[in-house]
Amino acid sequence: MPLHVLKFGGTSVGAPTALSNAAQIVARAAAEAQVVVVVSAASGVTDTLAHAVAALDGTGSDAGPHVARVRDRYARLAAAALSRDGLRRYEVALGIHTAALGRVLREVSGECATFALRDAALAVGERLSAPLVAALLSETKLDAQPVDAARLVRTDDRHGVASVDALATYPALRAWHRALRPGVVPVVTGYLGSTDRGTVTTLGRGGSDYTAGLVAAALGADLLERWTDTDGLYDDDPNLNPDAAPVPTLRLDEAAALARQGRLGMHPRALDPLVGTATRVRVRSTAAPDAPGSWLLPTSADASPADSLTPEPAHASTP
Ligand code: ASP
Ligand code: MG
Repeated sequence: MPLHVLKFGGTSVGAPTALSNAAQIVARAAAEAQVVVVVSAASGVTDTLAHAVAALDGTGSDAGPHVARVRDRYARLAAAALSRDGLRRYEVALGIHTAALGRVLREVSGECATFALRDAALAVGERLSAPLVAALLSETKLDAQPVDAARLVRTDDRHGVASVDALATYPALRAWHRALRPGVVPVVTGYLGSTDRGTVTTLGRGGSDYTAGLVAAALGADLLERWTDTDGLYDDDPNLNPDAAPVPTLRLDEAAALARQGRLGMHPRALDPLVGTATRVRVRSTAAPDAPGSWLLPTSADASPADSLTPEPAHASTP
């Protein structure tokens, strides 16, 4: 069976309709491939967490309202997306991760916001998304399982912009994937990793794309689908320019160079792990799952140069 990595950005897991579209997309993919899902925090949640840390830093003020804001967001999403049983099971994860957030934010408030505490707070969004998406997939009869990437993605200790140690991470990802129960659909937290001392780190804003690229490269995936709120890539920002034209294909190495310059609306290193591999990347819209989206093709595959976009930038709106 081919292996497909499906990454869902913040808007794709940030509203009930998007979540239910995402679940259908995964169910369809799982019928024809082995699937690994990578998820972001629900849109806006990472910002909320960052603001909470900044607002509380050493002030001694009450962390409770900040925790409640995040808990309410996920509780509302879960109540809209899950059955009563699914909701009851999800509430366990919600309780664990919001309690952890409360401890971190109280420490931030009582003492000060170290970079390590800040990352521990920022990681909570993805840690709440993965069990939510896994619970939703379980309701479509998939054998889904949330996976915390802190177990698998080894980084240095540059909190907030951590670099991944591929020599440690790739074998860990491969061993983990080999050991999965056949048929299981893992739902991996994007954006986060941990140091060799087990301290949680984050990979930089938009880092779930980077996680997806690493997972796809380590596992030799046939396809990485990046599901977002824009139908593929455009030759200008489609939100600002109504004449922006879709870019149906782009060479992966060219796309990686554009991403590094911040011109594809994704993490600058997201595509680096895939350059030189045979993995094909497709950028698609959760809101328009039947639209063709854009293909980023390995250098060896025959992406027609006429279709490719160089040197002009391509745009995708931020996930
Ligand atoms: N949730 C993180 C952020 O908003 C990572 C991501 O969305 O990829 O930056
Ligand atoms: Mg995000």
